Parts: sequence; C-alpha cells; structure tokens
Amino acid sequence: MAKIAINIATGSLQQAEMIVGIDLGTTNSLVAIIHPESKQPTALQEHNTSSLVPSIVHFDELGNAIVGEEAKQYLETDPQNTIFSAKRLMGKNYKDISANADFFTYKVIDDDTDSLVKVQVGNRFYSPIELSSFILKELKQRAEHILKTPVSKAVITVPAYFNDAQRQATRDAGKLAGLDVLRIVNEPTAASLAYGLGLRKDEEKTIAVYDLGGGTFDISILHIYNGIFEVLSTNGNTYLGGDDIDRAIVEYWIKQLGIPLKKLQADKELSQGFRLRAEEAKKHLSSENSFSVLWKHHVLEITKEIFESLIQPLVDQTITSCKNALADARLTINDIDTIVMVGGSTRVPAVKEAVSKFFGKPVNDSVNPDEVVALGAAVQADILAGNNKDFLLLDITPLSLGIETMGGLMDTLIPRNAKIPIKAGRQYTTHKDGQSDMRISVFQGERDLVKDNRKLAEFSLKGIPGMPAGLPKVEVSFLINADGILVVKAKELRSGVEQEIEVRPQYGLTDDEVEKMLLDSITHAKDDMQVRALVEARTEGEQILAVTEKFVAKNTSLLTKDELVATAGAMQVLQLALTMDDKNLIHTKIEEINEVTRPFAERAMDVAISGALKGKAINS
Ligand code: ADP
Ligand code: MG
Repeated sequence: MAKIAINIATGSLQQAEMIVGIDLGTTNSLVAIIHPESKQPTALQEHNTSSLVPSIVHFDELGNAIVGEEAKQYLETDPQNTIFSAKRLMGKNYKDISANADFFTYKVIDDDTDSLVKVQVGNRFYSPIELSSFILKELKQRAEHILKTPVSKAVITVPAYFNDAQRQATRDAGKLAGLDVLRIVNEPTAASLAYGLGLRKDEEKTIAVYDLGGGTFDISILHIYNGIFEVLSTNGNTYLGGDDIDRAIVEYWIKQLGIPLKKLQADKELSQGFRLRAEEAKKHLSSENSFSVLWKHHVLEITKEIFESLIQPLVDQTITSCKNALADARLTINDIDTIVMVGGSTRVPAVKEAVSKFFGKPVNDSVNPDEVVALGAAVQADILAGNNKDFLLLDITPLSLGIETMGGLMDTLIPRNAKIPIKAGRQYTTHKDGQSDMRISVFQGERDLVKDNRKLAEFSLKGIPGMPAGLPKVEVSFLINADGILVVKAKELRSGVEQEIEVRPQYGLTDDEVEKMLLDSITHAKDDMQVRALVEARTEGEQILAVTEKFVAKNTSLLTKDELVATAGAMQVLQLALTMDDKNLIHTKIEEINEVTRPFAERAMDVAISGALKGKAINS
C-alpha cells in the first residue's frame, strides 16, 4: 500500500518515498520518476540544464571525483585520469576486454587475467563497480536536490545481454552509492514500458527495440504477453554508435583541410576541438540540411547529403544485426508488431528511415530517445511502489516452490527465477501400508527444511485405494499461469483420484522479504545441507527397516536360519544408528543390511519392494 506522510515543514501531504528509475548508460546516465501530480514519467533536470549526465568520472591529483558534464571536458586533455565507458568493464576480466584494450585511454590493469579488471588512476585502483557508483551517487544527489527529499530506492536498467555477473556488479554499484536497488530491468523492456507497451494484461505483442547510443548498438526482440517480457533474441555491436559517426565527420573534415591524421592524433586539443564540432554538426544535421562553422581559421562544413553517405556503412551494419536478431528469434519482419527507437543516435533521420524501411512500417519515436529507458525504469519503479495496483510485472518466480517430503524436507518443483508461465511435476508415493490420505503441503523458499520456508497452502488427497507402501503413484504437478497463480494438483495414477488447489504465491511478500529469504538460504546453506543429508539418511533407514521387516514376515519360509539371525542383527544395529546424529553411520548400517539381505532379496525381489526403496514418500 502506498504510504502517505505529512511534511512537517510545509504541513502538506507528501508521498512517503519516491522510487526512482535510473538509466546507467555507457555514454549518458539519467534519473526519472513518475511525476506525483501529472502521473507521467518525467526525467529529472535542474533548471535550464540537460537531464543527461555524461557517464564520465574525472579524478584530480588528490583523488577527488567529479562526474558528468564537468568531467567531460577532461576527456582529451587529461585522458589518464578521466574514466569514460566504465559500463563496458562491468563484470569483466582482462581477457574479456583485451581485444579492445586500445579503446581505453586510461589504465586498465591486466596483471591477473582471470580476476575482474581494475582501473588505475595515479596510485589508486578502482573497480568498475566503484566507478559506476560515482555516477550513481551523482544521480542520487541530483535527484535529492531536485525533489528536495531523500532518495534511497531505485530501479536500474542494464542491456538485455548482460549476464549474471554484470547484473550483480550493477546492483553492487547501486548499493555502494547508497541505493537500495529494488530491481534490475532490461533496457529494451524499460523502453517498451515507457511507450505503455505491456501495461495491459490482455496485450500480446512482438516488439523490436533498436537502440543506437553513443558507443554501442543493441537490437532486442521481445515478446510481451500477459505482462511478461520475454527476450527472444539480442544482437548488436558493442563498439558501434554515435562516437563512430562523429569520427567519420572528423575524418572527412581533416581530409578536406589536408591535415594529416598523425597531426591530429598528436594534438589532443586539436582532436578534441574537431570531435566536439563534429558532434555539434551531427546534431545540427538531424534537423537542418547543412552545417558550417568557423573554427581556428578553419571553415568546417558538411551537407546532409555527404553526412548520410559517410554514415551509410554504419547504418547498414545495424540493419544486418536486425536481420540476425530476427533469424535468431525465428521470426520475419511480418511478425514484428512495433518498433521502438532508443538512444540519442536514433535522432539521425537517415537512421530512422533505414530502420523503418527494413521493417516495412513506421517506427515509434515519439518519446525522447535519450530519456526513454529511464522513463520506463520510472514506470517499473512506480509499479514496485504499489501505485499501479492493476498491474503486476511478473516475469519470474522470485522464490522456489515445492512440497514437503518425509522428514520435513523441501522438495523443489519450480526453482526460483523460473520464467512463467511454467509447469512442473513429479511422482511421489506413500510410506505406510494401506495409507488412504496423502497430505500435500506447498512451500515457498530456498531452505532445505520446510520449517524454514513459507507455507503457502496445504490439502489432502483422499481416497487412495488401500495398497502396500510404495505402490501408489501420486503425481504432484505445479502450474503457474501467466497471472502468477499457482495451481497445485495431486493425482493417484493407479486409481485416478485427484485433488487440486489454487495458490497466489506472489502476494504478501515484499521485495525485502524475498531478499531476506534468499540471504538466509545462502547463510544457512551449509547447515541446511548437513541437516538434509541426515534427514534423508534417516528416512531411507526407516524405509529399509520397514521393508525388510515386512519381507521377512512374508517370506520366512524362503530364508535359512542363519539368514534370519543375521537380518535381525543388522536391523537392530541400524535401528540404533537411526537414533544418532551421524549420517555416515546410518549409511554404513544401511549398506550392511543390504549386504545381508541381498542374496535372498534377489531371490524374491518384487516390484513393491524396489518401489518402496526408491520413491520419495510423503507423510500421511
Ligand atoms: P548511451 O545509451 O550509450 O549512454 P545515449 O542514448 O545517451 O547513449 O546516446 C548518446 C549519443 O547520441 C551520442 O553519440 C550523441 O552524440 C548522440 N546524439 C544525441 N543527440 C543527437 C542528435 N540530435 N542527433 C544525432 N545524434 C545525437
Ligand atoms: Mg542507452
């Protein structure tokens, strides 16, 4: 429920706490919120400045960091101490980036190829996580300054292709910046949300998200269904973007002016000057037909026509990626319902036209392409804040779901992070002869013992016809439908008796609770494993005893006197072992009993026994 608080200073009502959406970009980063009055996603900006914060950190001699526009001016004058594109280093070791080592003008440490990279600035070392945290800290402070309220909760976006290590690194950067990262969202998912796509539950769509930023190009194909965003494929080039467009213009100019490339490379100020003017020209040509400026007695000119011919190869490359992404998703252009344009470089009309021509329909570009990802992150943040109650963004199950088996053990049927909808099933059996009821207890959590997890539901499968223990085959199936509702069904396959129940596993747990449960499962993993092993050994021992006893009673005539005595002895020893907390001892004694009974068991092995020895049993 959304909380309302009273601002003591003004006496007015204010929202308890705002959750912000953050686009942590390679080139630019920004924060957005859902405006408390207009309810529209809004990028935060100080008066008369851009909402974009260049993702650049500059360190002075004392190691003080400045971030953003101010840091940008040091890019070429103080390259060793000016860190750009830290996002490219997230979760990477040196081997991962060695092919592109020249790209970085600052020192990326390569002493140990298997560990994660660090950046050296003077005599200090920074991890990409720390570097990103400087950017996030700046964004947090900006947001607090503009909103005049503390900001501590955020949703942060990452590229769809980011792996677990890169996502975790992003989370850690947030934590380091003093932010509670409620969720990591894929950039194309956020962009779709900003266009309102996927907000209606009955909506089913296939979307292409074309994202051409400053230094990277990503194309993602998403399938949206029932509020679930599934990434069907991603493609792109992590070294292709607006920077390459700028470079093409610079190269054109110096060729026109007869300046050797070597001279440019040797003169940092000169190259910086050209680069800045090239970016200016590029932006100008997004709305005008020609550009011209006088700079250091050079006339820098370019027409839209020449510009478009210069960038044609770059644009063609992105279209090839689009083709590949479609092929990977096993789709054709006709399957794509909507195309969403993301990234500052999609402002170039030639880019838009090429994409629209390729897909054969107009593209969605009404939302500011620099801001669209952050705006979508704000939409997601608002959903998490509970302000948008009609809509629950369910894409994965946050915690494992399973049932209780003998000895209070958790038997997981659907692991955490499984994509929904999902179906899973497993067979169980009884552990007592003639057992007619079977209790199915449904739990949620990561711990090995159900007592440490959360009970969601319980029901009994009644009317199982009398059969020896181990003979009934009870199929328990879990189905989470697209609405996040879990249906648990139990069916005895021999007799056909069945029973089912509906559970709403997602409700009633906050993200914090989920996080705590996950943390607990990590902290207790070792204890849990030991307890589970002991409980399993005991359960197995008890079953062996029961089966052996029954077998002996039934088949006394088949056994010699020596065999009877040896079996009774082995049973007694196992019985004793079961009272002790030593799983190895129990295992040894189980082996001993098996050793003794093997010869005659083989003689008269019957299906019921082997079934009972193997199958997991549920308490009655
Ligand atoms: P990223 O996602 O990599 O952080 P952005 O989406 O912010 O990057 O895109 C930054 C790029 O967009 C820069 O190369 C910038 O020059 C380019 N850009 C911004 N505005 C325009 C424009 N009007 N025309 C062409 N390119 C633009
Ligand atoms: Mg971006």
